[in-house]
Amino acid sequence: MNLNTQFTQLENFGHSLKANCYCIPVKQTEDIYEVFQLAKKTGLTVTARGTGISYNDVSLNGGGIVLDMLGMDQILEWDPASGLVRCEAGVTLQQLWQKVEPDGWWPPVVSGTMKTTLGGCLAVNIHGKNNYQVGTIGEHVVEFTVMLPTGALVTCSPRMNADLFYAMISGLGMLGVFTSITLKMKRIHSGLIAVDARPVHNLREHLGDLLENAPNYDYIVGWLDTFAGGKSLGRGQIHAANNLKEGEDPKAQETMQLKYQHLPNRLFGVMPKSLLHYFMSPFVNDVGWRAVNIAKYIASLRKHTFRQSHAEFHFLLDYVPDWERAVGRGGLIQYQSFLPKEAAKDAWREMIELSLRRGLPSYLGVTKRHRPDKFLLTHAVDGFSLAMDFKVTDKNRSRLGEQLQEFDRIVLDAGGRFYFAKNSETSAKTTRAFLGEETIAKFKKLKKRCDPNELLESDLYRRIFK
Ligand SMILES: Cc1cc2nc3c(=O)[nH]c(=O)nc-3n(C[C@H](O)[C@H](O)[C@H](O)COP(=O)(O)OP(=O)(O)OC[C@H]3O[C@@H](n4cnc5c(N)ncnc54)[C@H](O)[C@@H]3O)c2cc1C
Repeated sequence: MNLNTQFTQLENFGHSLKANCYCIPVKQTEDIYEVFQLAKKTGLTVTARGTGISYNDVSLNGGGIVLDMLGMDQILEWDPASGLVRCEAGVTLQQLWQKVEPDGWWPPVVSGTMKTTLGGCLAVNIHGKNNYQVGTIGEHVVEFTVMLPTGALVTCSPRMNADLFYAMISGLGMLGVFTSITLKMKRIHSGLIAVDARPVHNLREHLGDLLENAPNYDYIVGWLDTFAGGKSLGRGQIHAANNLKEGEDPKAQETMQLKYQHLPNRLFGVMPKSLLHYFMSPFVNDVGWRAVNIAKYIASLRKHTFRQSHAEFHFLLDYVPDWERAVGRGGLIQYQSFLPKEAAKDAWREMIELSLRRGLPSYLGVTKRHRPDKFLLTHAVDGFSLAMDFKVTDKNRSRLGEQLQEFDRIVLDAGGRFYFAKNSETSAKTTRAFLGEETIAKFKKLKKRCDPNELLESDLYRRIFK
């Protein structure tokens, strides 16, 4: 294996961070072992990377090696009777749902994009719009096999090597590299999902709806107009959805076929969606996007119920390919905070007001209802999350950084947590404050055991743990 020809510039999803890395594709478990040997010999560090679409630096490794896991993309076993599937770690959610849905199953937890890999999803322990009902993806993992930097292959489940199971899921790829993963799928009785859409007029109503209705629906998510202040602050729209029960869809065998789950390639049947982000660009500034938010809020005032395919409901963000490029050269940063249910309203009011006063508004706000989980570096709380997207420019970059540090203080004071797949500003001090010294000591002890030569490091790891 040779490093000379593989030095490549990699980016995060929002194109706001860049890192030059030795990018090495792997096809099988033995290749991972060889890369660890190479790293030892050269003194370089290693980060595994799936699709590489985390919002931050979690899969970047400036000056080091990046293991490109996309070549390990085989679905190894699928049992439509039990719903158990065993996959290599580079299998994407898209491959997975397309394999299982025609047999009447759906992945138990998915991200807002289907492009993520299972390895990437486990390493950050993703949550979906059903987090309150079913927890994170880790709660549906039956077992996984991981290669440690020592070269050992270890299998973990909630009963076997349980300490590693709960630390590697959420462990940011810093304890070992997932090679194969066994997951339990969720039974479905239709390719459609029933969605209730309703407006909420302020933050109190918004959080009240999520709180009251999360137990009544399989999925619940809110859109929040981050440009609205004063009495309208927190206004938006709730989408709450249920899987159809057996017998509710007379055409279930048809709607579960892949042709029903297609995201169309053309808008209005004419414009290729791949070009749409160019047309969006002129509107992606404070004035244009405020207008878009107002228009969206007005359109959302009508309460209605409809059915749509699973793919349309879950993967709205895949609808416009490369939409994140519409924000321009500086890219975007996502900031997602997780707050206890009692503290969320005041903290988010303070954050949104601050962003409007500073003239650094978020362009998008998405809310969810969460529940705590047992994974070591968990981001979850008994409360809510708010994800905000900020446009980065050369002019606002440092002021935006300061604003996000102030957000961190507000979140910490309110007893909140952060998600390492999203925020790109969280400091080592903030990390210590929210995870606690005990959790960090536990993680570092496992790190010493699994990775005694500290071969696994990423830009994020150096930022939050060093
Ligand atoms: C549009 C969009 C919507 C999203 N929606 C959601 C959402 O609804 N909920 C949510 O929770 N997240 C969401 N995310 C975040 C996303 O799910 C995570 O960032 C996920 O980790 C990305 O998968 P990936 O394959 O690109 O991982 P990468 O970015 O490549 O890697 C992420 C982490 O996984 C590690 N890793 C990758 N492969 C392996 C492996 N084989 N073994 C060990 N470690 C590995 C990397 O080292 C890194 O630490 C969203 C992201 C985008 C861009």
